[in-house]
Amino acid sequence: MVIIGGGPGGTQAAIYAARYGATVTLIERDIVGGAAHLLDCVPSKAMIKTGSVVAYQGRNRAMGLRDASPEIDLEAIRERIAGIEAELERSVTAQLKIQGVRVVKGTGKLVGPHEVEITPHEGEVEVVEADIIVLSTGSRPRIPDWAEIDRERVLTTRDAYPPSTMPEHLIVVGSGVTGVEFVHMFSSLGCEVTLVVSRQQVLPQKDPEAAAVLEEEFLSRGVHLLKGARAVALTRNGDEVTVACNDGRVITGSHVLLAIGSVPNSDGLGLEAAGLTVDDWGHVSVDHNCLSEVRHIYVAGDLSGKLPLSSVAAMQGRKIAEHAMGLHKLEHTHIDYDKAASTIFTLPEIAEVGLAEADAFATGRKIRVTKVPFASNPKALINDDPHGFVQIVSDPFTGVVLGGSIVGRHAAELISVIALAVNAGLKVSNIHETLFVHPALAESLAEAAE
Ligand SMILES: Cc1cc2nc3c(=O)[nH]c(=O)nc-3n(C[C@H](O)[C@H](O)[C@H](O)COP(=O)(O)OP(=O)(O)OC[C@H]3O[C@@H](n4cnc5c(N)ncnc54)[C@H](O)[C@@H]3O)c2cc1C
Repeated sequence: MVIIGGGPGGTQAAIYAARYGATVTLIERDIVGGAAHLLDCVPSKAMIKTGSVVAYQGRNRAMGLRDASPEIDLEAIRERIAGIEAELERSVTAQLKIQGVRVVKGTGKLVGPHEVEITPHEGEVEVVEADIIVLSTGSRPRIPDWAEIDRERVLTTRDAYPPSTMPEHLIVVGSGVTGVEFVHMFSSLGCEVTLVVSRQQVLPQKDPEAAAVLEEEFLSRGVHLLKGARAVALTRNGDEVTVACNDGRVITGSHVLLAIGSVPNSDGLGLEAAGLTVDDWGHVSVDHNCLSEVRHIYVAGDLSGKLPLSSVAAMQGRKIAEHAMGLHKLEHTHIDYDKAASTIFTLPEIAEVGLAEADAFATGRKIRVTKVPFASNPKALINDDPHGFVQIVSDPFTGVVLGGSIVGRHAAELISVIALAVNAGLKVSNIHETLFVHPALAESLAEAAE
């Protein structure tokens, strides 16, 4: 098996296929662990954590402490993030080594249906033959033709961990999951932030109630929301950047960050040499086994055009290893993308899994919805954070848990309980009868499962 791309999709496919007996070569041109570790999930959450520590200082008085205003040290933040990335690369590389995977640092390209050309960072170009090929080359930020990224004041999401200078006034373009996470990150670090929202609601694809909680939080922090405005032009003039919108409004700030989606890394991969094509968005289409139209080439992660999450890429990698090594003939379940848990890492965190209330109503499906606010949860009061709620969606006839959402501190951790219930077909009674820790936020889950 030859794998191009060492993100969560590629590394999981490599580790599991090698464990099942394959001879595996993994090609990675940058860091083992992928953009997920180097450029996206991990550094963004690390910066958000730093921002949360700053934001938490606002609670000092409530906790019985005198205020202490922290000073932001950009170099220390950069070093902390680099340290986390190095540790993660070390641990993934060790796992690959234990399984006997050959890791080549360099660029991979298809030169035939079974042939992959490797241009290593050091040494000679070689062509390796493979029975099975896995493509997991990820994606990169989408840059519109009206923007010129200078990585100094005109930034993509990948230039912000942290930027070379701290923005005095950051303009974030794009109000999807990534955009709002960056608004949260920089506003909690004390920057003035303006968010350009092309619709009338932030997080247009998400539950309006959760979006409203977030908008309220942003407004209370002084974030400016420019609604119904689509950015169409961008200019930099010295230390100032100006964004012009399609309705004539113009905003000036010190930095601008574009968070308007991503494009798959399918160009330059030699797809045509293997007989592969891409769809209109540049993804390589796959079936429920992550197999492409060329039946020995699998695709994992963002390149496959499925749910663009690190957790999904990793699961696809594992499923590919099972399928390629014939284990699916014993016991194998396909990925149900509708049951993937996800979180928006803002304050409050917004986590969800499975069937949403709005989707059930839209299709006329009968559901039971129970909702419990954190306001009465002892741990939430101890944390001085009684905002948010737990909501569980279940089947009114069988009690089987179909989905749920949690808005509040630690929602990303707490949603795991509902995710397990949804994926394992558990009933609300299974959650209700679990003896949770007291005091713990999880007690609200038991209450919502009554
Ligand atoms: C700002 C941001 C925050 C995110 N936060 C989260 C989060 O909190 N949770 C979550 O689940 N998801 C998150 N995501 C999504 C997540 O990062 C992706 O879904 C995930 O990285 C996809 O994994 P992958 O294996 O497809 O690719 P990647 O992680 O992108 O890895 C692909 C690798 O392939 C390598 N590569 C590409 N082409 C070649 C080539 N020709 N030869 C050799 N190597 C090559 C690249 O160097 C890269 O290392 C976030 C995304 C963004 C943009």
